[in-house]
Amino acid sequence: MYDQVRRIDPDIAAILDNELARQREQLEMIASENFTSRAVMETMGSTLTNKYAEGYPKKRYYGGCVNVDEAETLAKKRAMELFGAERANVQPHSGSTANMTAYLAFLKPGDKILGLSLSHGGHLTHGHPVNFSGLLFEAIHYEVSPENEMIDYDKLRDQALAERPKMIVGGASAYPRFWEYEKLRSIADEIDAVLVFDMAHIAGLVAGGVHPSPVPHCDVVTSTTHKTLRGPRGGLILARKDFFKNINKMNFPGVQGGPLMHVVAAKAVCFHECMQDSFKEYAKSMVANAAALGDALLERGFHLVSGGTDNHLLLVNVANKGLTGKAMEELLEQVGITANKNTVPFDQESPFVTSGIRLGTPALTTRGMGTDEMVRIADLMDRAVQNRENQEVLSGLRGEAEELAGQFPLYPGM
Ligand SMILES: *Cc1c(COP(=O)(O)O)cnc(C)c1O
Repeated sequence: MYDQVRRIDPDIAAILDNELARQREQLEMIASENFTSRAVMETMGSTLTNKYAEGYPKKRYYGGCVNVDEAETLAKKRAMELFGAERANVQPHSGSTANMTAYLAFLKPGDKILGLSLSHGGHLTHGHPVNFSGLLFEAIHYEVSPENEMIDYDKLRDQALAERPKMIVGGASAYPRFWEYEKLRSIADEIDAVLVFDMAHIAGLVAGGVHPSPVPHCDVVTSTTHKTLRGPRGGLILARKDFFKNINKMNFPGVQGGPLMHVVAAKAVCFHECMQDSFKEYAKSMVANAAALGDALLERGFHLVSGGTDNHLLLVNVANKGLTGKAMEELLEQVGITANKNTVPFDQESPFVTSGIRLGTPALTTRGMGTDEMVRIADLMDRAVQNRENQEVLSGLRGEAEELAGQFPLYPGM
């Protein structure tokens, strides 16, 4: 592997080697990460990276697009089939540009949008002041209820009726529960707002049939392709037929230049993989693993935000263990578990410290781990917390984590 890089640039080759080793040795529990297939990686490393293809299949601004046209057509067809969508745009470079395109297709700068607050599980692109979405639009936010830590749809409706945003954005980066799409739809209809749902985190669960689909209820659905969907790093937009001209125009020339055709082709490979029975099994396991991990953590006295999970991720409030999210992230790193600190609803700590940790099962499930391994990992975490001052115990735990990882080979033969 990496023969050419090794010959030309040993510095970068060493970095690639070290990163492969890191991914193999550590228990990867960042909820937004996954291990894509060799087929997806080969496609990303192909000659398609050389091609300019501004425009859309058969309507390009460059010659020589015959092959990339076929790749993009296939990617779109597969995306529509996989999600039962009327139209698909597979060109967004990322989830963020997919959202920018979706918003600008309907809104003018200064228009009002209503999205889930970042500190309650939402995403920066849902109207945070430091992001384009908060800079360009007048953003207001809905929250989860302090009682059950789930979205408070009654309050959301009150806010929508009082503020009359032009767009409601559903979806999250750190929300472990199902969404009630019918409620979002009826609130949007009451105020004649556009309903966009950002399924970046749960797209793979939707594709695998283990999470309800937002597609039938929403005007536009945006996504990433690299999280639970397990494809190349990139974005995706699905929409109704009547909105699609606007979406396409806003993607190009509105927001982006030339599409990354090597990534577009890799998205086609990803969608093909997602249609297989093996992917449905994978999606089921992601959810079963998150549930098992959650139960095992509850048994060990950890507090789960909202009390549990319906999807692939858990938000653990570690304040009752005498730790901040930042300290927990560092502790887990010491014992070979990669995760990220995360604000919890109504967090008293700053976003750099936080009271929570977000854990996800997509990557470990790809490695083949099941519910038994999740219980072992919960136990590892618990012992790490209890022995956090004891370096000897912690290095023993790191050995256990590496041994567990080694039992589930990653990219064998690479
Ligand atoms: C990850 C994520 C995005 C952004 O995706 P990028 O590819 O990192 O730009 C957008 N929305 C949600 C809900 C996400 O979780």
